[in-house]
Amino acid sequence: MKRPAVFLDRDGTINLDAGYIDRLERLELYPFAIDAIRLFKRAGYLVVILTNQAGVAQGLYGEEFVETVARYLAERASLGGGGIDGHYFCPHSPEAVVPAYRVDCDCRKPKPGLALRAAADLDIDLPRSVVIGDRWRDLAVARAIGARAVLVKTGYGATEALHPPGDGTAADAVCEDLIGAAVWLLDHPLP
Ligand SMILES: [Mg+2]
Ligand SMILES: [Zn+2]
Repeated sequence: MKRPAVFLDRDGTINLDAGYIDRLERLELYPFAIDAIRLFKRAGYLVVILTNQAGVAQGLYGEEFVETVARYLAERASLGGGGIDGHYFCPHSPEAVVPAYRVDCDCRKPKPGLALRAAADLDIDLPRSVVIGDRWRDLAVARAIGARAVLVKTGYGATEALHPPGDGTAADAVCEDLIGAAVWLLDHPLP
């Protein structure tokens, strides 16, 4: 049976957006992030991270480091009573320094490729899923896959909230942070 997912952006949503995070010492989780992930899991959602990592395309760090961060986050989430069911990232950029990554891919958000790959791998119920991020380009994925969208005001979110895009991308809710998004989600079950 298909299951709904919470698709989480990483930088600015789970952890502070500290520019390009190229070593674990620069990764600082928001203090509420692990609790929020546990609440999502407890409510029956798969938790899947979708993250643009243009730092790979810029040659600042490799794909293996992105995977290292993913393993670290999964471990922290498990220790906190939750878990992370999937982690998908886009290493590409149209302006990539590394030629192999200079492609017009289908996975760099706002494109929905990462979410679609996750949905196929994990048998996700997209219309019952929700996308949470600090940028409108994260939420554009929600519109493309027919899921709900929550903008969090951490990271770039407070600024983004002031400048809604004119392209039809919208938020079902704007929340202070990821724990606020968890509360909103639990308060707004689909029929
Ligand atoms: Mg972000
Ligand atoms: Zn990509």
